[in-house]
Amino acid sequence: MPRPFLFCALLTLLLPFPATAQEVPLAGIVLVISDGTSQELLTAARIYARGVKGHLALESFPQTAIVRTYSGSDVVTDSAAAATALARGIKADDRVVGMAHARSKDSPPSLLDLARKAGWSTGIVTDDSITGATEAPFLIEHGNRDENALIAAKMVDQLGPRADLLLGGGAKWVADLSGKSGISYEPGELPVVRATQAKLAAAKIAAFDAWQPFVDHVAKGGDDRPVLGTFSPVEFPYYADGLRSLRLADLATQAVRFLRAKERPFFLMIEAALPDKACHLGNAKRAIVEVLELDAMLEALHRELPPRILILATTDHNNGGLAINGPPVPLTTRGDTLLGRNPITNAASILTWATGPGFDQAKANVRERVVTEPNQPPRTVVEPRLPSDPDYLQPAAMAARAAMHTGGDVWLLGDGPGSDKVHGYLDNTDIYRIIAETIPTAPGAAR
Ligand SMILES: [Zn+2]
Repeated sequence: MPRPFLFCALLTLLLPFPATAQEVPLAGIVLVISDGTSQELLTAARIYARGVKGHLALESFPQTAIVRTYSGSDVVTDSAAAATALARGIKADDRVVGMAHARSKDSPPSLLDLARKAGWSTGIVTDDSITGATEAPFLIEHGNRDENALIAAKMVDQLGPRADLLLGGGAKWVADLSGKSGISYEPGELPVVRATQAKLAAAKIAAFDAWQPFVDHVAKGGDDRPVLGTFSPVEFPYYADGLRSLRLADLATQAVRFLRAKERPFFLMIEAALPDKACHLGNAKRAIVEVLELDAMLEALHRELPPRILILATTDHNNGGLAINGPPVPLTTRGDTLLGRNPITNAASILTWATGPGFDQAKANVRERVVTEPNQPPRTVVEPRLPSDPDYLQPAAMAARAAMHTGGDVWLLGDGPGSDKVHGYLDNTDIYRIIAETIPTAPGAAR
């Protein structure tokens, strides 16, 4: 044996075994789901806020992939089936929560179950109602996504068994808010809500319906009880409407602090629900501003999270068929100029939808205003709605009361340990697989 080789061989035996990245335990996994957020909407948000040459924070993720989203029953998925693919790794029928079919008797384990088996903490955050179709499949199995009262009852039962933390809106589903302005219940819902409210009072759950007491609870390191926080009667209002101070970034930041205080690895799912709802309405401004809120939340997460975290961010499906039309559109276009007529042609709208309520433009962008003047009876004036108004509707090619989801492939971003699997063309069930393969199979085990 030549001497240099012998020397190297001896040195290898004498030196401690080099620590590989795989021996350092993973600190956790965060899955971000931006509902109904097409690639075209991301581009529109970038142009709106930073100009055509600018960048969003989400562009800093090192790994990207393209993901197909068809459901078990349809080329074009709904959010319940898409989230079931992500939470359970199976193709589900549209509108079914956490199972393949409405009458299924069982279902594969949720990602929350896999995290629990590894001894991890678990949390779910949304700016939708906590009963929404994107979070429910992580926590429960249910045949119909619309049965909010029944879904809330099942969700509360899983606080502790499956989740340490559930934050969002939808307070009306865990407390009787009848009589409060704008709150109503369908026949049969209220008895279920009251039963959930009574169950919640008897259970060892820390329930919050105001933000500051929850923040104080987190600052003290929490306690052994799981936490339910519902900070809005229904889903949160749109940020563009100016009615909101509690941001998605605040929810995400406090959720991370709550989970880190437990000093265990954690799995956290965060949903940005409102881009989808704004796209259904045909309001590009609301949708764009919600994407910017998503982006601000991702930036806050990067500051807040410890090292050795796998972060995946994706959308469950596209919505509305938003298009940035041209040419010619000036390179300097940004801000509210993007939302209205093309400044060069003054004829066509820069942004259009494939479907939605903006089809009838003659009716879409006028608003009625009651004017009262001294010594005159009130009169109604009809005036044009400006593109800067969040209610402004860009034109749609096909009429629909609500814009329709569309079936094109979507984006997936990845960062951290295990994110090297985020590349090429994937299926939405592969996102479950990537996360499942990254969670250790037993407490204390490393991946
Ligand atoms: Zn939708």
